Amino acid sequence: MEDAGRAPGFYGGWEGHRLGVWSGACTPQWRRDRLRERHIGYPEHEKGALALYIRTSNRQMGVGRGLAVGVVLGLLTLLLPLMVLEEEQPELLPAQPTPAVTQPGEGEQAAAEGWDRGQTLRLLQSDGEVVELTMEEYLWRVVAAEMPASFEPQALQAQAVCARTYSLWKMTAEKHREAGADLCDSSACCQAYTTRKAAMERWGSDGEGYAQRIAQAVAETDGQILTYQGKPIQAVFFSSSTQATEDAAAVWGGSLPYLVSVDSPEGEEVPNYHSTVTLTAEELAARVKQTYPEASLDGAPEGWLGEPSYTPSGRVAEMTVGGVTLSGGAARTLFGLRSACFQVSYGEGGFTFSVTGYGHGVGMSQYGANAMAKAGSTWQEIVSHYYTGVTIQRAEAD
Ligand SMILES: [Zn+2]
Repeated sequence: MEDAGRAPGFYGGWEGHRLGVWSGACTPQWRRDRLRERHIGYPEHEKGALALYIRTSNRQMGVGRGLAVGVVLGLLTLLLPLMVLEEEQPELLPAQPTPAVTQPGEGEQAAAEGWDRGQTLRLLQSDGEVVELTMEEYLWRVVAAEMPASFEPQALQAQAVCARTYSLWKMTAEKHREAGADLCDSSACCQAYTTRKAAMERWGSDGEGYAQRIAQAVAETDGQILTYQGKPIQAVFFSSSTQATEDAAAVWGGSLPYLVSVDSPEGEEVPNYHSTVTLTAEELAARVKQTYPEASLDGAPEGWLGEPSYTPSGRVAEMTVGGVTLSGGAARTLFGLRSACFQVSYGEGGFTFSVTGYGHGVGMSQYGANAMAKAGSTWQEIVSHYYTGVTIQRAEAD
């Protein structure tokens, strides 16, 4: 992905802004090389520990400020494992005829004696009420909310296993203990969630077939979870990827041996796989200043953004904005992009971000899972592909 480091039409070099003296175009090559070495040469532990981080140049950062930033970043690192799920849901595929995948009631029957039905959990709803559900019912509602029901059965089953595993992992954090609950219904905190009524309304005339597909995905994988060293993994997932998923360390700082970059097979069949966001110079400046008031946006707009550096998966690792260094994830949030896989150019209309895929890029790609399923992979092959070195096993009884 060496070519990905070049943004077409990009004008001006990041190094000029770091020093506030030279423009990239006027900086001698030897100087640019030296600055680039400095830029890349930050200690690994500093690079690795941050998720949404800001780094000003050494000249700009005093010792006290550096310490303060370090403390904040340390706290962020501790909190990050709780912030892993993608906040947005994948878009639904266009409605398709639903093949009959099972006899009515087969899914429920299979789970009748199963592990999922024997587990209960307390769910904190957004209205503040805590309701008790079986794991079977909770997983149905999560899968219905998290993945288009028209996806292949093996992809839906992979999703059910991820959801079950993630639920168990999340429950160990006891985040909602004070509210007397195990999990909540917020996708920004735990997992996306819908009610049967809302799902059926959304599915319309396809409702019964879709409901059955999801019931079967849960039932067919009853009690199956993914573990690493005997513990449920942080089975994060997202909507769609560029050709490779992202290493967790590149997005959240902390690395996990099973959340490393792997190939992902989806492509142009994904709705809105490529998207663009255009911001006028004024709009971009307003966003930047609101979040990063220390950013220096003097001079011509084409010089405001530095050339991004890219991770091996093709997502933005870092870029400078008015002299402030942002991670790809922070830039994604700031500019409202669907993923951190983007290039930026400046022209008459302002700044144009060209984006591929949707989501944070870590763990299982849902559209990638569907592409694998279409090509004949089983759910076991799908999860083993996206979560490196994990064990598929039956959850232990309480
Ligand atoms: Zn929650």
